[in-house]
Amino acid sequence: MKITKIRTTPLLCKFKQDYHWADGVTLSSPVVLIEVETDEGVVGIAESGVGPTIEPMLAILHDAIPHFIGKSVFDGNKLIWDYFRSGFKARGVGSQYRLFSRTMSGIELALWDAIGKCIGQPVYNVLGGALHEKIGYFGFVQGDRPEELAAHAAQLVQEGYPVLYVKLGRGDALDLAIVKAIRQVAPDVRLRLDANEAWDTLRALRMLEKLKPYDIEIMEQPVPGVGGSEALLRIRSAGVPLSADQSVYLPEEVFEMCRTRAADAIVLGLHETCGALRWRKAAAIAEAANVRINIHGIFETGITTCIGNQVGATVPNLDDANQIMWQLLEEDLIESPSLTPVNGFLPVSKKPGYGFELNRDAVARAHEEYLKRRTWAPV
Ligand SMILES: [Mg+2]
Repeated sequence: MKITKIRTTPLLCKFKQDYHWADGVTLSSPVVLIEVETDEGVVGIAESGVGPTIEPMLAILHDAIPHFIGKSVFDGNKLIWDYFRSGFKARGVGSQYRLFSRTMSGIELALWDAIGKCIGQPVYNVLGGALHEKIGYFGFVQGDRPEELAAHAAQLVQEGYPVLYVKLGRGDALDLAIVKAIRQVAPDVRLRLDANEAWDTLRALRMLEKLKPYDIEIMEQPVPGVGGSEALLRIRSAGVPLSADQSVYLPEEVFEMCRTRAADAIVLGLHETCGALRWRKAAAIAEAANVRINIHGIFETGITTCIGNQVGATVPNLDDANQIMWQLLEEDLIESPSLTPVNGFLPVSKKPGYGFELNRDAVARAHEEYLKRRTWAPV
């Protein structure tokens, strides 16, 4: 089965409410829809994560696409890394794995969808079979002020989420008020916090001490990821379990994080690893260290939720409260299946490929929004 065309459609998917986190307020999710067409009429669909803006990633994708045309959909492993060496690294940007991975992940992931659809099997079977029938997701608490966040937290507990996840790094007093307010309405829920690299060592130690009475299950990446395992090791003495997010993109970085015992969990998305193969390699390294891996979410749609659900089903050390992002959108791109977790879990689709149907009208509207605004950063 040969690749005949790869279509790229830039999309800007608006959030239903302002998204507050350590780096400010974000209003929309930018993605590039990737559709790999084949000579057998099968179309593999995925999306590339975008950053910092859509246009440079589109330019890289358009440079890469000719390398794939006329080649077999079963050669993704070779084609992706041939292009990395000859089309990317050879131009002097070999250290830019993160940009490469987030850009090219859409093609790698769409090829798995095409293979699954071609043989009539879900992607988890293409990857060797599922270990999980359903995948767990955390309740992602949204809002600006503590009272808004607490009200949403109470609602998520009512909906049956066993784990809640809250963004911090918005100022110490506000952070503490948010956690206090949430604990008042959700005293027993497993609570995870993410400060998105906002704190230096001293501030992190001070904040973790103040947060201890609130029974924090995991503190995610409170210090800059560029500091790697060393930055997390410096705050280990606080005694709060830590997870690594921005510290870790590559399997090599997972190895280092596990080797140094700097993190208790690894948070890693399929766009960050350039797709399913390297995400599973990273998961296997963490498994060898008895460390669980959490499917990271970033600015994305339900397409990525469906992908993570399939690929995540194949690894034994998958976390039970992964990140889910599509619900933040005013309108998702998925027509079916329903991606609303029940008691915090989504079943793993048994349909061919990733098992989703796109809402083409929603895609057209998100493309219109891109053409209108062409930017995702609030001003
Ligand atoms: Mg994070």
